[in-house]
Amino acid sequence: MSTHLLVVDDSPAMRKMITRVIEMSGFDIASLAQASDGAEALEILRAKPVDLVLTDVNMPIMTGEELLREMAGNGMLKRIPVVVVSTDATDARMHQMMELGARGYVVKPFQPALLRNELERVMEIGQ
Ligand SMILES: [Mg+2]
Repeated sequence: MSTHLLVVDDSPAMRKMITRVIEMSGFDIASLAQASDGAEALEILRAKPVDLVLTDVNMPIMTGEELLREMAGNGMLKRIPVVVVSTDATDARMHQMMELGARGYVVKPFQPALLRNELERVMEIGQ
C-alpha cells in the first residue's frame, strides 16, 4: 500500500532530514507533504488524503500537542496515525502525547534507523 505522508516541523532543515530518511528507506510513498506548524498541517489534512503524520511538538502558531487535540476531536482525522518527533525526551511529554492518540514517539536527534523502524512499526499496525 503506498502511503500519503505529512511531515510537520517548524525547522526546514529537520523537515528535509526527515524527508530524506523516508525517501531513502524504500517505503512505498504516494506523496510527501510538509507543514511548518499545526495549523498548516490541519489545512492539508482537510484538503487531501493523508495516511500518516509525523509531527514536531514545539512549533509557533499551533503546537504538535494542539494538533493532536484537534485531530482527536475530529471523527475522520482521529483515525490517521501520528508519530511524534520531538527533542522533548521526558516521560511526562511522551505519556501525554500517547494519551492524546500518538502511535509512536521518536526523540531528536535520532539515528535514521530508529525513525525508519518506528515508521515501519506504525504503518504495519495501521494496515
Ligand atoms: Mg520545533
